[in-house]
Amino acid sequence: MSLRPGTVARVNRLVDRHGRAHRDLRVSLTDRCSLRCTYCMPAEGLPWLPAPDLLTTPELIHLVRLTTTLGIDEVRLTGGEPLLRPDVVSIVAALADAVELSVTTNGLVLDRLAPALRDAGLTRVNISIDTLRRDRFKEMTRRDRLDDVFAGITAATRAGLHPVKLNTVLMRGVNDDEAVDLLRFALDAGVHLRFIEQMPLDAQHGWRRTEMVTADEILSALSDAFTLTPVAGRGSAPAERWYVDGGPETVGVIGSVTRPFCGNCDRLRLTADGQLRTCLFARTETDLRGPLRAGASDRELADLIVTAVLGKQPGHGINDPTFLQPPRSMSAIGG
Ligand code: SF4
Repeated sequence: MSLRPGTVARVNRLVDRHGRAHRDLRVSLTDRCSLRCTYCMPAEGLPWLPAPDLLTTPELIHLVRLTTTLGIDEVRLTGGEPLLRPDVVSIVAALADAVELSVTTNGLVLDRLAPALRDAGLTRVNISIDTLRRDRFKEMTRRDRLDDVFAGITAATRAGLHPVKLNTVLMRGVNDDEAVDLLRFALDAGVHLRFIEQMPLDAQHGWRRTEMVTADEILSALSDAFTLTPVAGRGSAPAERWYVDGGPETVGVIGSVTRPFCGNCDRLRLTADGQLRTCLFARTETDLRGPLRAGASDRELADLIVTAVLGKQPGHGINDPTFLQPPRSMSAIGG
């Protein structure tokens, strides 16, 4: 679907009232997932978004392409699990010429899809893996699929996707004893590992600060086995990085809660049901699906997006006593 007449000029109009210019859009392709991670959703899953509310592929591509005329030049496809979307390869093909494209996936079907995604224009991938132990994987995800994740990591590197990044969430008393092993695994596999502090975004609203493993604790555990040297220049990247044993390999830590990086945030989110979220922790959203289906012009849609961004909150507020977890859970927002 080509853009309607009257498309706006290509300047970064996605600047909020705190002076942050936004260029990175996270797009949730679905809220469904093939795993049931304990820190994300209950074992029985969730009441999924109604199918009529989900953006059709032409609608999704139209909105994403519209944001590229406003300043977005990087897009990450997320979920739920984005590779569950049957036409994910054609979505990649439709967007790859306009933006730097990546995907965050649980890796379960990457073994099968990596070559096709690469051929469609995907260049990089983030794969979630929280443990190297099969029994623990079953416990943490309620699925016995660790071998599929390993196969997905191998397929991603074989397909030439680069960088291949691994995302790990450590939970106290669950998998926090695996930090060193996970980094060794990543170094051996030639991929880049980032540890992410657990955030209050689970559907059960069961997050407890005391159960979260902090960035300081992660770095201390790693320093028992490796020499870590800070990498200068973080920019708007969520991860702080350290050279491992003098480098060039590095490890990343995303201290969302204890080391917030909201001051340089350049990220926006589009949900699978067409809502624009200016922050992962936003408690309000801007509906783009309704106006789009009602025939709004690209200029009207662009104005909705620009206005929403202007009003973006300064940060997540997790450390404020007034903090309230957003009603929408992680699986329906995307990473
Ligand atoms: S919490 Fe919100 S403001 Fe902070 S970095 Fe994440 S998306 Fe940006």
